[in-house]
Amino acid sequence: MLRVYTNSDCLEEKQYIFRQILGNISGVEYELYIDEDLSEIVVKYKEEKKSLSINSSFFNQFKSLQWLSKESLPKQPLKYLKKDTFSLLNLDVEEELPVIYGSTEYDFSPENIKLGVDIFGSCFFMLSRYEELVIEEKDIHGRFPAKQSLAYKEGFLMRPVVDEYTELLWGAINFLWPDCRRKRRSGKTLVSCDVDYLKDSGAYFPGIVKRMAGDLLVRKSLKEVLKSIRSFYQVAVLKKKYDDPFYSFDLMMDVCEEQNLKMAFYFIPKNNKKSIDGDYDIDSDEVIKLMQKIMKRGHEIGYHASYDSYKEIEKTIAEVTLLKKVYEKAGGNADDITGGRQHYLRWETGVTEKNWEAAGLTYDSTLGYAEHIGFRCGTSHEYNFYDCVNRKPMKLKIRPLLIMDCSLIDKKYMGLDFDTAMNQAALLRRKSFVNRGNFTLLWHNSFLRESFKKKMFRNILEKFD
Ligand SMILES: [Zn+2]
Repeated sequence: MLRVYTNSDCLEEKQYIFRQILGNISGVEYELYIDEDLSEIVVKYKEEKKSLSINSSFFNQFKSLQWLSKESLPKQPLKYLKKDTFSLLNLDVEEELPVIYGSTEYDFSPENIKLGVDIFGSCFFMLSRYEELVIEEKDIHGRFPAKQSLAYKEGFLMRPVVDEYTELLWGAINFLWPDCRRKRRSGKTLVSCDVDYLKDSGAYFPGIVKRMAGDLLVRKSLKEVLKSIRSFYQVAVLKKKYDDPFYSFDLMMDVCEEQNLKMAFYFIPKNNKKSIDGDYDIDSDEVIKLMQKIMKRGHEIGYHASYDSYKEIEKTIAEVTLLKKVYEKAGGNADDITGGRQHYLRWETGVTEKNWEAAGLTYDSTLGYAEHIGFRCGTSHEYNFYDCVNRKPMKLKIRPLLIMDCSLIDKKYMGLDFDTAMNQAALLRRKSFVNRGNFTLLWHNSFLRESFKKKMFRNILEKFD
């Protein structure tokens, strides 16, 4: 068992980050010892004379700075740890590692390794979303903008830096103590669907008029006009609701089942047709029938928290209660509703996570950015969140969201062409799996009308590696 020595400053935060990095992600066993004379974090194993010492400047800075103060944010531009550092530890890396806290200095000998990079503090900064509590800027939906994040500004949003830091740590441990073992999990593909709309309004009157005008004037395609007319005829005239382009649940489940994947479908538990919160009533027959179909095929049903709920604890609790009631009516067991995602990815760090925990949920998968895909939390692993306001660890697990469908191609977001979008998605999937983390994909049932979107969904899940 490893022994970790540190002083007692920021002890709650240190205990939390050791649990996440050493226990959860690395899968190693360790014991914690307090030594007030230390300013660094020291790791030992068996033979007392060998040691690994790691800079701890993030936590040390609070001797003079205030918690959550602007001065405690990382100093930009960041320095980068050269690839040579990694090759000394027999680690093969693709890119230099951004040093969020600490320095690029290091000292290696067969008996001792000293790392200037603050591994635990930098990982704490990323996982706790510390910067989101310090930087006040928000976008029009009240969300923390990707562009304000250190990862975006320093160009490492597409990298799971926490996982890379963890590999560096493991490389050093393994270099000193080759017989130390870790128990790693294997990565999974986690596909979820936010059910915002059940009906494609463009397949009904009067939406069809707007759709055809768009086909002619914007898309300039007669083929699209014919497709829209055909869809209107099938759905609105012949009333074949399963031909509605938004009723793509069977297709999604088919694609996932071919890959042996279980999907999660998140529903908005409200009764308010035609609002920002979707177009269906949660306790309507059509939703209950849909839930039964999903359950029968063995997929998960979860919570899609309404637009206004992200800062309102009562709303969150009431919505979860309603969803559980409807789920039971559909024949399910209320205890199976364990998590989901906020509508519009609206999330206020310091508030929303507490609502989820108070509502008895165990995981959330909101934390990705709408305007850019990537690793908002710096990791591909599911992990426990930290309450930076009350300074205590949480039971709620964060399942980082790496890709939302529209982020890839919408002009207001990344606006990528098909091939670039596929390459970027492939990059994230590879980086997650290399680190034995999860590749988390959000695809809306309402994002499969055009054939190229169907192709994207299929390709992202099928044609990689
Ligand atoms: Zn939504």
